[in-house]
Amino acid sequence: MKRIAVLTSGGDAPGMNAAIRAVVRTGLEKGCEVFGVQSGYQGLITGDFISMGARDVGGIMQRGGTMLGSARCPEFKTDEGRRKAIQQLDQQGISGLVTIGGNGTQTGAQALSQMGFPVIGVASTIDNDLCGSDITIGVDTALNIALEAIDRLKVTASSHHRAFAVEVMGRDCGYVALMAGIAGGAEAITIPEVETDPEALAREVRDAYERGKPHAIIVAAEGARYNAERLMNYFRDNQVRLGFDLRITVLGHVQRGGTPTFFDRILASRLGAAAAARLSDGEHGVLVGLLKSEIRTTPLAEVVCGKKPLDKHLLELARVLAK
Ligand code: ADP
Repeated sequence: MKRIAVLTSGGDAPGMNAAIRAVVRTGLEKGCEVFGVQSGYQGLITGDFISMGARDVGGIMQRGGTMLGSARCPEFKTDEGRRKAIQQLDQQGISGLVTIGGNGTQTGAQALSQMGFPVIGVASTIDNDLCGSDITIGVDTALNIALEAIDRLKVTASSHHRAFAVEVMGRDCGYVALMAGIAGGAEAITIPEVETDPEALAREVRDAYERGKPHAIIVAAEGARYNAERLMNYFRDNQVRLGFDLRITVLGHVQRGGTPTFFDRILASRLGAAAAARLSDGEHGVLVGLLKSEIRTTPLAEVVCGKKPLDKHLLELARVLAK
């Protein structure tokens, strides 16, 4: 009987559990024995494998995080580390691996694949910065959490005529800030991909004040040149007047831990099932993602080289809708 394994790696994302469940149950359906690897690539190197049956993945779909654990593993970036991982897999008779994670995870998967081990990736990151999937597992939940926070901050902001700079995740990619900003009705958005002029941003907020708005919301990506703290410091150091009194709220890891939404559970179930089915049919060296609403595969080599474009026209949409 063919043996396959599944791991989650890098930043955890709500929906990873639904993906694990789908890999395990589809693998079993295809006649494979399925193993879970604990703590991502770290567990691959140390041989931390557990045999997984259908019952082992019961009751996990509604839980955020990952029941297998995740870790950041610098050793896996070395040839030596990956050789140890392949040795462990060989010793257990495992002949295929599903890697659920983001850019770093799929870069590791590609490196393993280049060393001759069959791997299939599943697109999962709350940043949505992975090529090969229009939307990735976890983004929808993270966005809904960010939106709930923005909605609440708006209520208190209105009561006190305040402005809030709300910082959301996104070190290199402004997708979450942009989408949360539009859906949350932000007056201004800062993202890493576009240079922000803090004076122009201040003018927009001041205009909103003068037009009689009771509040202003600025959504800032953590990796933007002007994230929430740097924006606050700039306004303070340069004595920039906004009209409103400005407060900052950094959402941070709160965005990761939520109960996966319907969308993320379905996406994770479909991608996880497709990965296990294709791996057991002999396909590998690819990422399974959602492209134009269909489950598609993209070679890992393309996925890790590409940079996902961000539709910057949406910034203009956000500006017009903030009037
Ligand atoms: P994410 O998958 O969320 O982007 P990371 O960037 O932290 O998360 O990557 C997760 C893990 O993937 C790293 O800890 C490392 O073990 C592995 N990895 C990342 N980059 C590489 C690489 N260039 N070569 C091999 N493995 C890598």
